[in-house]
Amino acid sequence: MAEGNWRIYVATDLEGASGVFRFAQTRDTKSPLYVQAMEYLMGDIAALVRGLREAGAARIVVSDGHGRGDNFIPHLMEPGATYVTGGPRKPAEGLDRTFHGVVLLGYHAMKGTRDGVLNHTQSSSAEMRYWFNDRESGELAMAALLAGGFDVPVIMVTGDTATCREARDFLGRSVITVATKRGIGREAAELYPFQETRAAIFEGAGKAVEAIGRCRPYKLPAPIRCRREWIERTERPSETRIAVREASVRDVKKIVDF
Ligand SMILES: [Zn+2]
Repeated sequence: MAEGNWRIYVATDLEGASGVFRFAQTRDTKSPLYVQAMEYLMGDIAALVRGLREAGAARIVVSDGHGRGDNFIPHLMEPGATYVTGGPRKPAEGLDRTFHGVVLLGYHAMKGTRDGVLNHTQSSSAEMRYWFNDRESGELAMAALLAGGFDVPVIMVTGDTATCREARDFLGRSVITVATKRGIGREAAELYPFQETRAAIFEGAGKAVEAIGRCRPYKLPAPIRCRREWIERTERPSETRIAVREASVRDVKKIVDF
């Protein structure tokens, strides 16, 4: 691949963006805190896009992944990329085999991670948990599997320190990680100033492009044994129970809803 022709797909979430550490910033789309969190996310995206462009990316697609997928603020879009948002749409809309790398921006650790800020897997209210081939996995691994289905490796992950650790655990040491805060608890963090996180994201983007050749697509032997647990609540708290579903899944696009 000639330098400068890199095609990069960016999947975003909100919990791992700079400055985000409370569920009040990520749940109610009408809250001023939520709108402010969207601004924080746009700032992180802008730093990433600038860094990727500087490193020679020719095509950058940024995909809005948190909640219902309505988290972008159009007038804050950094030039040099396109932005996929709104719904309904399929997960990883626009991703295909022509891309060279995926960046997971603003991600969070899986449910149950002690020092993972806003840790959850798919649903924080139902306390959902997932296992694939007996290994408990979070949204980071799910996104990496989806990209792996197109033979595209994850080259960079941003989020709190727990997310960065989870990225290395699942994806190996070649993936570039940038911590936007130090995780202390589910709603507690040591925040890093925006100027510093964005400088680190910009710099990380350059390293990520250099790492393309070293990163391998994340794949699991098929069929994938999938297990999901969640809390089923009724009117009476005494009837609350843990529900379980298991399935054998061949298509990685179906590992979330089986
Ligand atoms: Zn999210």
